[in-house]
Amino acid sequence: MSHAETLYHRYHIETRDAPDIEAWPPRFQVKVKKHRLAWLLLREIFHYGPGRKEVILSRPCVYGVFSGPVGGFAPRSQYCVGCLRCTTQYPDVVQIVPNPERRRLGDAYFTAKIVDTVAYEAATGRVPVRGAGYRGKFGGPGWDGMWTDMSEIVRPTRDGIHGREYISTLVDIGSRPAFLTFDAQGEPIQPPQVFAIPLPLGFAALPRMAGQPALTRILARAAAELDTLALLPVDALKHLDAPTPHIVPVAESAADLARVSFTPRLVELARWDEALYADARGRFAESLMMLRLPYGDLSTLEAAYAHGVRVFHLVADYHGRLPDGRFVMDGIREAHTFFVERGVRDEVTLLGSGGVIAAEHVPKAIILGLDAVLLDTPVLVALQARFDGEFRTPADAYRLPKHLPEDWGVQRLKNLAAAWRDQLLEVLGAMGLRDVRRLRGEIGRAMFQRDLEREAFGDIEGFPDGGPSPAAAPAAPVALEVQR
Ligand code: SF4
Repeated sequence: MSHAETLYHRYHIETRDAPDIEAWPPRFQVKVKKHRLAWLLLREIFHYGPGRKEVILSRPCVYGVFSGPVGGFAPRSQYCVGCLRCTTQYPDVVQIVPNPERRRLGDAYFTAKIVDTVAYEAATGRVPVRGAGYRGKFGGPGWDGMWTDMSEIVRPTRDGIHGREYISTLVDIGSRPAFLTFDAQGEPIQPPQVFAIPLPLGFAALPRMAGQPALTRILARAAAELDTLALLPVDALKHLDAPTPHIVPVAESAADLARVSFTPRLVELARWDEALYADARGRFAESLMMLRLPYGDLSTLEAAYAHGVRVFHLVADYHGRLPDGRFVMDGIREAHTFFVERGVRDEVTLLGSGGVIAAEHVPKAIILGLDAVLLDTPVLVALQARFDGEFRTPADAYRLPKHLPEDWGVQRLKNLAAAWRDQLLEVLGAMGLRDVRRLRGEIGRAMFQRDLEREAFGDIEGFPDGGPSPAAAPAAPVALEVQR
């Protein structure tokens, strides 16, 4: 090993501004009553004198909305940040309303508000700051019904973003047996087969990638530059000049496996099929196998584990719904506890996709039991895709910008990953944790609205019981059959 290889490199994501390439509808409509504005301007001219044209035409907005060639008579809504200063000072002249066009970006789950947040993170790489105080709701359905414990927030040294004390976001992918056994020659019978990625985020395969060379190359390069994983259907591999260790081919069939011309670190099988699994193991003896399956399918989980699969990619739809209608949080908890109860949780890696669309969903998914998250719809939104109606399954339609510059796309995904990692560090720092691996399954670090409301109001007649707690333990343990 060379000297350079042994040097310690602190993980860092290089962020750079990558502004939108396609104009999206402005967030706000600026409605001006022109006759009242004319009257206001007359008063301003009288007050400042005609020589102060730039002052007169800029008012009442410091963001340049009223600084176009004809000032507020043709307001430049694209510059409006919604600070409401203008309408507070001149309510009879100007009104600011949300733009219904903008609200149509995204869909019922990936709301326009979350689209705005993801777009900002992808454009800047920064954590969005919303100003003084949070004025929204403190609970709600889905992820909003889960709160994280920030009780250690006052500890000054656990300051991940600013880096006075390093917080590791490295996660292991693969299998570590609970103990080692050795053969007569002293060689381990089943050595740990594991590699690490420096952040618990990767990229899931996206619908219709095989027909999108630019999208494929962006995902592959972003994964390489972030040193994480990009899942690519075998049909899309033809768009790459040279595969890197960051590529995870997704195989649907034996024919797909035969077309993979390199030895990946990880191969995804798109469905459970004993013969396909045996074929993949035969072809790629050095590679780890990952099985894709829907959340909630415990019998397949059990069968695949028994045959030796140790890495699982659990999938919900893009709205975070399981086939039986439950939310993804229940699915994560169920799969994690399935292995905990059988005493083999550390032997497996659980990755998940579907329904994780905001930075705070990542620590929540890890607390519930995932090792890492594979991003799907946030990647599309970061690349300025628009959904045609509800985008719930891979069969639903989306449109990316016609021309997708590769450098721009890679930078947008790196920015998104940096912003989400910073927010994860913030949560870890606030919990006093120095390693994201310690967060996995730490359900005591979370509170659930359902539980707290039941505690507070459960005795009151008529209180609607929201069902079992997401933190509840599942069925009694059952020993797993294992073929080594
Ligand atoms: S809301 Fe703020 S940014 Fe928008 S026009 Fe008024 S002053 Fe300018």
